[in-house]
Amino acid sequence: MSGTELDYIKEAFNSNWISPLGPNVDAFEKELAETVGVKGAVALSSGTAAIHLALHLLDVGHEDYVICSSLTFAASANPILYQGAKPIFIDSDMESWNMSPQALERAFIDAVELGYLEKIKAVIVVNLYGQSADMDAIIKICSQYGKPIIEDAAESLGATYCTSNNGQLVSKASGTFGEFGIYSFNGNKIITTSGGGMLVSNNLEALDKARFWATQARDKALHYQHSEMGYNYRMSNVLAGIGRGQLKVLDDRVEARRRIFKRYEEALQGIDSIAFMPELSYGKSTRWLTALTFDASILNITVAELCRMLGEHNIEARPVWKPLHLQPLFKGTKYYSHEVNGMSVSDFLFENGVCLPSGSNMSSEQQERVIDTFKRSIQ
Ligand SMILES: *Cc1c(COP(=O)(O)O)cnc(C)c1O
Repeated sequence: MSGTELDYIKEAFNSNWISPLGPNVDAFEKELAETVGVKGAVALSSGTAAIHLALHLLDVGHEDYVICSSLTFAASANPILYQGAKPIFIDSDMESWNMSPQALERAFIDAVELGYLEKIKAVIVVNLYGQSADMDAIIKICSQYGKPIIEDAAESLGATYCTSNNGQLVSKASGTFGEFGIYSFNGNKIITTSGGGMLVSNNLEALDKARFWATQARDKALHYQHSEMGYNYRMSNVLAGIGRGQLKVLDDRVEARRRIFKRYEEALQGIDSIAFMPELSYGKSTRWLTALTFDASILNITVAELCRMLGEHNIEARPVWKPLHLQPLFKGTKYYSHEVNGMSVSDFLFENGVCLPSGSNMSSEQQERVIDTFKRSIQ
């Protein structure tokens, strides 16, 4: 926390707005929309809820298909199941670790050939570990097939992507390229409200509909009347107060995470086979988490062994996300790898990748301890 959050919480207490609506909610939505440069935002109870409502807005229903990045947290795809639809997973490329445009294109070509293109209702593009996917390439393919994009920017609030606009390069916030974008304020994200999320769009009418569904779909009537099924998905006015305080330090947090990344890079990049997640020239990553891969046979240690050894020193490291196409939950789901008959990039990143402690408040002494322990573990 930065300190100013308490002022907003006090405001909520003093005015007795302890509810899933109120002045902090309205202000947080407005301030976040301004920060990322979109027309509107809806504050919700989680990023997962935001993805769910986005799918609902795009009319995703029973037996429909939704294309989704495979290398991500399960929350990206669970809402596809909430709607009774089926995911189609897409591999990453080595350059961005994010959705491979080639694999995406093959998924569409197959859908045309096999006759289910119409059933694909949306594409969820995940921006992993603070870095935007290659949106220009992905947007081009999606618009060719007429499919809307939901940008899962839960991990990339504060990141940018440079897109060409009539021959000119313009830098835009990650999460603002799709029909809908979502952010998360879960405890582990770059800024947090303890739990919460945001749905953003330039389509204000759609956002109003999302707000309606998120407050139990209460019709405009004095009595409690409902014509549609709703959800209890709104963010509380107290938590929105925390969000307002956090938003003020977003830039600082991004710089802190990038500094931490740079220190790891300087200390570890000389080690044989270690390769850090690349940052592409087309944008700025927040480096939400410092992620790297190494060759277990060269360093004589597997990812699991490294995590365990760091854990023995009370240092929490984690493997890279286990790709969703490998999850028991999604067994048998269609999956398109980056190369036609070659390796699956997300499998490789999962098997060889690790995320190091990257909290914005980590001191340089703490980081030195992680680096030392890392180096001793691979000896
Ligand atoms: C955290 C996260 C979510 C879910 O956000 P919640 O607010 O925890 O529901 C979705 N997608 C990705 C990629 C995430 O990292």
